[in-house]
Amino acid sequence: MVRMIRFLGVSLLVATPLFAQARELAPALKPYVTVNESVVALTNARVIDGTGTPAKEGQTIVIRGEKIAAVGPASSVSVPAGARTIDLAGKTVIPGIIGLHDHMYYGGMRFMGVSYPRLFLSAGVTTIRTTGSVDAYQELNLKRVIDSSLAVGPSIVVTGPYLQGSGVGPGAMHPLSGPDDARRMVRYWADEGVTWFKAYTQISRADLGAAIDEAHKHGVKVTAHLCSVGFREAVALGIDALEHGMLTNTEWYSGKKPDQCPQASTGDMYGTLDINSPDVQRTIQEMVKKKVAMTSTLDVFELGSPSRVPVDQRVLDALYPDMSKSVAQYYERGKTANDSVERAAFKKSMEFERAFVKAGGLLGAGSDPCCLSSIAGYGDQRNFELLTEAGFTPEQAVQIMTSNGAKILGFDKTVGTIAPGMQADLVVIAGNPIQTPGDIKNVETVFRRGLGYDSAKLRESIKGLVGLR
Ligand SMILES: [Zn+2]
Repeated sequence: MVRMIRFLGVSLLVATPLFAQARELAPALKPYVTVNESVVALTNARVIDGTGTPAKEGQTIVIRGEKIAAVGPASSVSVPAGARTIDLAGKTVIPGIIGLHDHMYYGGMRFMGVSYPRLFLSAGVTTIRTTGSVDAYQELNLKRVIDSSLAVGPSIVVTGPYLQGSGVGPGAMHPLSGPDDARRMVRYWADEGVTWFKAYTQISRADLGAAIDEAHKHGVKVTAHLCSVGFREAVALGIDALEHGMLTNTEWYSGKKPDQCPQASTGDMYGTLDINSPDVQRTIQEMVKKKVAMTSTLDVFELGSPSRVPVDQRVLDALYPDMSKSVAQYYERGKTANDSVERAAFKKSMEFERAFVKAGGLLGAGSDPCCLSSIAGYGDQRNFELLTEAGFTPEQAVQIMTSNGAKILGFDKTVGTIAPGMQADLVVIAGNPIQTPGDIKNVETVFRRGLGYDSAKLRESIKGLVGLR
């Protein structure tokens, strides 16, 4: 099958040949794609398949075109004649990571259209939901060129501009003036092609309810980073998902007033909170009953406890020099930070996420790569370490970061697990993240729709750019 793609007056052939010939690639992809044969066999791999079941050793994965054709032990899966074979002895394969809170901006909400797509992909993130956009048109346009195989990057689920309440100062967010305004904004952006919305910290119950109703009329969904509205209130209004978990729920705080975000410290809000208390358990039960998913963003909340944030040289290398200096200073200050209250709350938020999953809740993960050392891709990898610290098995942590994300987005028939017929979105990792969670950072090759991208080349190409563009 051959189809023509026209772009800027240049036409190129995208061919799907029968055997292991190289496919024709757009110029933007060429420097980074190191595996582009249409039939590829990955052999001797340790496979964590995304379903949460134990890892399997000695597996063969056959990729045909954009899809996984077969996976299983060498004794039952044979390597097709003419396939390019890649021996993965000592290496681990997981499904492409699905980052559910993976903004396209960083540092003062600057759009990172150049560095982030490559950085996400280099770290194994093959699908993102932007979960609050500052410039939805830039995101929609970026999505279009990536979907057309004309630019490198993950699949993008574009979220509309933030649905924020009134009374906020200057900035990128439109302050809603009431329910009709919320409906108007949702209608407009749903027509433009966004498929999710994110409500924000100052929204009123009335505006949130109107936005959810209007979104559902248009077949699109709503999630939220809440503060003025409690989790149970949002669940009752019919919200589809909630971001961040415990540290953004205000409804357990005795000083909470309706439609207002309490000005209280972490200690006031969560210092004496008991995850096993009826009040907290009720929130979990109501979320589970209404099938409201939750996104874990542990890596960004860890930033509130600088004394426990590990120094990551890769982050310093990726940032532009002035920002890199600032983050190096942040790391330095962490050594003497007095953050025991925040650390305790952070541990409690891990406990909340475990309790949510134990109760049957659907938990996904995202990095919120907005600031300081939380940047695209590396934040998602840090999430894996933090989810295992929270007490999930490595296989469960992978499940949260892959197939659960796919379920939340409604993509689980095509991505999120390693099985025949699924899209070939795969991450090849040197080492064994089951024994050593930090091995998740040793990404070598990332397959997206069957093309293998060289992680090191992608990483090299964005050095010094993050924070600028
Ligand atoms: Zn965010």
